[in-house]
Amino acid sequence: MKELAGILELTEEEKAWREGPLSVPLRITGHYLSLIDPTDSSDPLRRQVVPTCRENMTSGTESADPLEEVSHSHGERLIHRYANRVAFLATDICPMYCRHCFRRRFTGNMTGPATEAEIESAALYIKAHPEIREMLLTGGDPLTLSDAMLDSMIGAFRKTSPSLIIRICTRYPVSQPSRITRELVDMIKRHDSAPFFLMTQFNHPREITPESIRAVSLFVDAGIPAMNQSVLLRRVNDDADVLEELCNRLVFCRIKPYYLFQGDMVSGTSGFRVPLKRGMEIERELRRRLSGLAMPVYAADLPDGGGKVPLCGSYIISSPDKEKGSWQFRTPEGGTRIVEDPQF
Ligand SMILES: *Cc1c(COP(=O)(O)O)cnc(C)c1O
Ligand code: SF4
Repeated sequence: MKELAGILELTEEEKAWREGPLSVPLRITGHYLSLIDPTDSSDPLRRQVVPTCRENMTSGTESADPLEEVSHSHGERLIHRYANRVAFLATDICPMYCRHCFRRRFTGNMTGPATEAEIESAALYIKAHPEIREMLLTGGDPLTLSDAMLDSMIGAFRKTSPSLIIRICTRYPVSQPSRITRELVDMIKRHDSAPFFLMTQFNHPREITPESIRAVSLFVDAGIPAMNQSVLLRRVNDDADVLEELCNRLVFCRIKPYYLFQGDMVSGTSGFRVPLKRGMEIERELRRRLSGLAMPVYAADLPDGGGKVPLCGSYIISSPDKEKGSWQFRTPEGGTRIVEDPQF
């Protein structure tokens, strides 16, 4: 904090932050810091990385692990919540910590990268469950590992499950795009027995810089599609204009907006949460303004491991009654239309 005070003029709320058992460490990359407007204490980028004392408050409805990830885990690092896909926590370390991080029970604990034994046991578990088709390589940020370590980690999973689709979940294109090099992408491509997907987290249009575009393009040019998962965050992007610009710019950079997440009920993140009703209004407005390609799915991860559900208002006003097979729909513009259903 002291170091930061020399760069940004800290507000009282920021100065009052204390590192607690449930907070993620304070760490901001030089790249991201350079994107922050030092004169604006409510800068949407600053809000994502500079902690305030609001983080020290926990409400009774929040918890460290609202998604019950721990109870769905096999070993410390493999989360098997859906039958056909798993998440592997490659490391708990990130180059920069987001104040809204939902996996803060794990992130930034300085446990470090998964050990060879942990990787081996996860790989054997996946092999023993052939219904698993996809693995999310996540954390923490897996690209904090060296290329050599990633090479051996990916190699271990490929050896036992050559057709496993791997999603590389990273915020490096936002936090420190220089990490992404041709050598890294070439190394990943050498494990090409099954597809890779790059999963990014851009939350604000100002995070899309020439450097981040270059970083993502290295993947996309190599045939690795890029998808973005944003988090809906109060006073960061809870605004249809901001999200419209973000999503359109992402598509222009060949990044498909995939999810827009409702903030989970994680301890210390109440300052970021947007009421569901407001989120649904924004979703409805975005659906009117954005192309299908640019439109993310607004989703909530339900408590107690319920999984993700789309939060999309219904466009069905009424379904067929006993007499007629007609459905009444609402159009995105607010009109109504009837669809006759001959199958009724
Ligand atoms: C989000 C998530 C997935 C992936 O879900 P998709 O809807 O396929 O993107 C898989 N496993 C866990 C534990 C998750 O949290
Ligand atoms: S990059 Fe992901 S894991 Fe790391 S602090 Fe941000 S949200 Fe948490």
